[in-house]
Amino acid sequence: MLVTPLKISKVKDVPTGLKRRRWMRLRVMSATLGIALVPLAYAAQRDSPQSEAAGVQELMARVGPPSDVALDDFKKAGMEEIRPHTLTASERAKMEAVLASLPDLTRHVLEKKLHTLAFVDGVPGEGTGLTSESAKTGLYDITLRASLLDESLSTFLTTKERRVFTADGSGLTVAVKGIGTDALTYVLLHESTHVVDRSCSITSAPHSRVIQGIWTSPHSMVPQLASSAAAATYFRGGRPLGFGQAATVYDALAQTPFVSLYATASEQEDLAELVAWREVMKQHGGNLIIEVSNARGETVRRWEPLTFPGVQKRFADVDDMLTSQETCSGLS
Ligand SMILES: [Zn+2]
Repeated sequence: MLVTPLKISKVKDVPTGLKRRRWMRLRVMSATLGIALVPLAYAAQRDSPQSEAAGVQELMARVGPPSDVALDDFKKAGMEEIRPHTLTASERAKMEAVLASLPDLTRHVLEKKLHTLAFVDGVPGEGTGLTSESAKTGLYDITLRASLLDESLSTFLTTKERRVFTADGSGLTVAVKGIGTDALTYVLLHESTHVVDRSCSITSAPHSRVIQGIWTSPHSMVPQLASSAAAATYFRGGRPLGFGQAATVYDALAQTPFVSLYATASEQEDLAELVAWREVMKQHGGNLIIEVSNARGETVRRWEPLTFPGVQKRFADVDDMLTSQETCSGLS
């Protein structure tokens, strides 16, 4: 079955790899797998246990080796040692649990739009993965670093966040705690939200509620946010800052609608971060905590972005988006 071809994606994704400033772009791929239509009309109601289990099995059938194009993309990003990772039985069981924990809407979209979910070995610690879209078929490949399967969310987040900062003699350091779930769950929530976003035209809609008043184009914010210290970090092309500036940056972030510094990268990353953290909070009872510590290891400042007023306000929009029958009504 053919699905409507989408334009070549311009969405950037998680910065990864040895070439730190090189962001992986979604790649055009030629995927020819036909996928059965799954009606989304019941997205507003919780799936029955039977239909959830069937959906998970449908997606597990697509967990397999990475595409050649995905492998090439990793290699082009400087990761020459990349190789396919075959999941063990316990890793497959873990994947099943993660897929079952996704929002129903997300799982339904993946059932229609996911081509392959693959893992690779040989990605350095800071690399994550990529989501590739076929311009021809509109289907997606999600390819993830296999070591994510055993990584804590705090380790993942702290490694990522430290790209923003550099040693400055202040003795200060930044750590990020991700509570409630693991790195795999968070990363899959984030990556699959990119698939939902593209498939259901969420951020690209003219008056998308979830980004209205925040973004004026995929990479441009409204002026009052663009001038924030939180909008000038590494994730927006800025130079690394001394750890001594961390408190200024996170105090600024607290005044914005962004749940993380990474969310400032683009409207697509903003949505992926917002949805992922809303689900970590709601589905897993989790939390996100950023701490600045001094040379003695004492915490000197602490932020909980899920409680920022501008973020809380948007969580209601996320809930509506994930439960409304309108969200993906045009998906075929
Ligand atoms: Zn992303």
